[in-house]
Amino acid sequence: MAYLLKDENLVGWWENFFMEYCRAEIEDVALEYPQRRSLVLDYWKIDKADHEMAEMLLTDPSKVIFNAELALSNVDVAVDKEMKLHLRVYNLPEIQHILIRRLRAEHLGRFIAVEGLVKKVTEVRPKLKNAVFICQKCGAHISVEQDEDILKEPLECYEDQGGCGRSSSFKLSSSLSTFVDSQKIEVQESPEGLRGGAQPERISVYIDDDIVGDIAPGDRIVVNGVLVSQQRRRGTYRLTSFDKIMHAVSIEKQEQAFEEVEITEEDEQKILEVSKIPELYERMRESIAPTIYGMETEKDAMVLQLFGGVPKTMPDGTRIRGDIHMLFVGDPGTAKSQMLNYMSKLAPRSIYASGKATSAAGLTAAAVRDEFGEGHWTLEAGALVLADMGIACIDEIDKMAEQDRSALHQAMEQQEISVAKAGINATLKSRCAVLAAANPKLGRFDEYMPIHEQINMPPALLSRFDLIFSMIDRPNRERDSNLALHILKTHKAGEIHEQRRRRLKDSEYSEEEEEKLMKPVTPFFEPEFLRKYVAYAKRNVFPVLQDDALERLKEYYVSLRNTSEESIPFTPRQLEAFVRLAEASARVRLSDKVTIEDGERAINIIEKYLRRVGLDRETGRFDIDIITTGISRSQHDRMLTVMEIIKKLSGESPDGTASREDVISEGEIQGIDSSKVKDALERLKRNGQIYEPKHNHYRITEEY
Ligand code: ADP
Ligand code: MG
Repeated sequence: MAYLLKDENLVGWWENFFMEYCRAEIEDVALEYPQRRSLVLDYWKIDKADHEMAEMLLTDPSKVIFNAELALSNVDVAVDKEMKLHLRVYNLPEIQHILIRRLRAEHLGRFIAVEGLVKKVTEVRPKLKNAVFICQKCGAHISVEQDEDILKEPLECYEDQGGCGRSSSFKLSSSLSTFVDSQKIEVQESPEGLRGGAQPERISVYIDDDIVGDIAPGDRIVVNGVLVSQQRRRGTYRLTSFDKIMHAVSIEKQEQAFEEVEITEEDEQKILEVSKIPELYERMRESIAPTIYGMETEKDAMVLQLFGGVPKTMPDGTRIRGDIHMLFVGDPGTAKSQMLNYMSKLAPRSIYASGKATSAAGLTAAAVRDEFGEGHWTLEAGALVLADMGIACIDEIDKMAEQDRSALHQAMEQQEISVAKAGINATLKSRCAVLAAANPKLGRFDEYMPIHEQINMPPALLSRFDLIFSMIDRPNRERDSNLALHILKTHKAGEIHEQRRRRLKDSEYSEEEEEKLMKPVTPFFEPEFLRKYVAYAKRNVFPVLQDDALERLKEYYVSLRNTSEESIPFTPRQLEAFVRLAEASARVRLSDKVTIEDGERAINIIEKYLRRVGLDRETGRFDIDIITTGISRSQHDRMLTVMEIIKKLSGESPDGTASREDVISEGEIQGIDSSKVKDALERLKRNGQIYEPKHNHYRITEEY
């Protein structure tokens, strides 16, 4: 932006333009000046007035904006104020929208638009705008306008500023200089533009003055600005390579959900038609990861997760999430990662991340002091913030960092993440569904061990998931044979496809044969269409629980809670999961009504999940305690009984301990199987509720 020159013709043109088209707006701004300091202008307004001027703005933005801003201060407005306004032009033509990875030298100095996700923001810092130097020879004040990132000093003591004209040494006076607020942000390509797992590219953007402090990591924005190059430095050396950075002229925030998914009238027609087809739910399931065999329930649940329930804001300000959180736990090689990967490519606004992520922000967010902030604080978004309004697919969630573990609670329930550190005090939105996968610590999933002991995740966090599916890989002749056949056929179909693609003429396979084999592994709905369908449903469909559905869910809930008198297997949290799943089910067929069938679908899925991970194997009843605390009600009660026995026996014995033999036989008298007494003793010992002062002799720990 160096050496901007005043151009009388340009100033004249803009003065006329402002007087004619923007007077009212300028007067509005003037009323609130200096709180407001910008005139925000739609590009097409300029284009309408003078196409050539609009073109010139695109090719030489620095010069045009410099002169337009000069003109802006000449505009006569009713409010008598000496104003210096910024001109912030937005809504650039489509061809000026450039993907970050496509930015090239030809774009340097041009007015372009870049879309993406805000990954990092630095704190707001003052930046020198007009630097005033004091000549060490004559004491004159010499001012130098700063328009680059490197301090520009006077070359001599300028005579036209009243100086001595000699070359001299100068001292910067910060009290005489003027500053402007400035901030640096990092924008990352949206994942939508990145099919195929490419690493997202990033660009740094400088923003100045009145638009700072308004952007948070995780925001989706369009930056309209000027691409400049900045020489790289290593220490005090200047390198020959340059970084691409942008100076923002204006920033547009994308607030609406799935704005980036464009739905034409034609699309809408097709979406409405499809919503009425019979067996819609099966067709939807067939559109999720068709190369993966089986997993019908998981895929049904993933369909519902794609659509999500309805987020609600209550009159007291509380927000209830609509997003459905889901966890896969299980044996290695059961396609967990594969499913997550598929979903992250299918669902709009989704992010795939691993719990092992190395970035400082991890899964949630962090304030870090890093190179990007030039040694100052930077707020950086992790996967859950970047996936705002989408799905965060988190693989190997069991391996996440300690800081994430605590932030994840808040992220999953309140759907925001707070960061308070070193003057950065921010709350970032993470309104996303979580689809996570975890591998058991011991390599294989053990159906008889509580989940939280197996995957290194606290029960309280586990209870945030609406659904937890265990994936167990046990030899089973029939399933193995079907799975093998499915995988082998998938490969064969791929082989034929490749052969025909490369040697169409002499391949012995016909097109029909290829199609026949490809069919079972082709999604019923194309991902592109499904994305549109989902976006349409999320934008337009807000279903309401019908009375009979409400009654059905209530009945089911009460019946589950009443399966035994003393046991309270279900909590209201599970009831909310039912509601979310039922709402999502209504959304699938674009219905405004959550019907009894939707309720049944939700019940079915939850029952299958509970049957696998929440079943109390002794009583055959569902028991959510197994998931949340790791033990069932009956185990818990038994542990209390055994504690009582130990208390009684140790009170009676001379050395104050209860021997193992006596505890077991007393247990048997009270009707507890010896193996279960032993199990209870193990657990009590592990929990620290009892201890063993002497081999096979127990005592109750003081505080119990
Ligand atoms: P995990 O993350 O559970 O350890 P992966 O997703 O890495 O497992 O899967 C391992 C491989 O096995 C993948 O290539 C996957 O496609 C294949 N695989 C596992 N289960 C199935 C299945 N049910 N159908 C098709 N392929 C499967
Ligand atoms: Mg894996």
